[in-house]
Amino acid sequence: MKTPIKGRCTLVGAGPGDPELLTLKAVKAIASATLLLVDDLVNDAVLEHASPNARIVHVGKRGGCKSTPQAFIDKLMITAVLEGEHVVRLKGGDPFIFGRGGEEVENLRQVGIDADVVNGITSGQAAMTGLGVSLTHRDHAQGVLFMTGHAQPGAQGPDWPSVAQLCHQQRITLLIYMGTSRSAQIQASLLQGLPAQTSVAVVQNASRHDQRHAVTTLDALHDTLHAEGLSSPCIIAVGDVLTALRALKENSPIPMRCAA
Ligand code: SAH
Repeated sequence: MKTPIKGRCTLVGAGPGDPELLTLKAVKAIASATLLLVDDLVNDAVLEHASPNARIVHVGKRGGCKSTPQAFIDKLMITAVLEGEHVVRLKGGDPFIFGRGGEEVENLRQVGIDADVVNGITSGQAAMTGLGVSLTHRDHAQGVLFMTGHAQPGAQGPDWPSVAQLCHQQRITLLIYMGTSRSAQIQASLLQGLPAQTSVAVVQNASRHDQRHAVTTLDALHDTLHAEGLSSPCIIAVGDVLTALRALKENSPIPMRCAA
């Protein structure tokens, strides 16, 4: 007979940084955890909901420490669940938007553990909301594309010219995660399918007290990032939904949408 699994695991989205953006469900899960495994971009302020008896382990790579290998995290989660703990895996933003939440759930499932997942507000959404820009303002966009600027080791990474063409033709707002270190290459490739004057915003530390941003055009993306000293964690947003904001910044009339 199969031994029943004594513990449980919940993957919790800690949101983009502002601790008040946690869901009630996230707060409840954090409060009932006996072990919390905390990712890099999680604001420590959310840990105030944890029980004083809970063990808290930071597994991120920022702050000069090396990141904990994924295999080790998986093993730690499984062992703790089998020992009867309630493991809460706290992940920045939403657990299922990049950040390996999907892999973790699959690895747990393989040993018979069905993890619960609690959504968080993804940083791309928070970044645009922080600028007062609707991702899908119907005058300018009919969809949103979440892309990573960071290819998985061994993988080719996004075909940016095709992505650009799709976004231009279909009026799609593009949100790029993990894109700052490759901004020059991403800019050059996107210019193969989008007009040079396409509006772009870069938002660092979205929803945190130290949030900063710049609004520019696609042909100036890389230079602006450097001039403004914007670095990870950043969202790069591209699309006509940003044009009104850009016009406001430049104090000029809203430009017409560029032709292909
Ligand atoms: N699951 C996360 C994304 C993890 S990938 C989410 O849903 O937000 C990590 C990347 O997310 C970072 O490199 C950065 O591009 C973005 N990111 C995370 N938090 C951010 C924040 N507060 N402001 C801007 N970008 C952020």
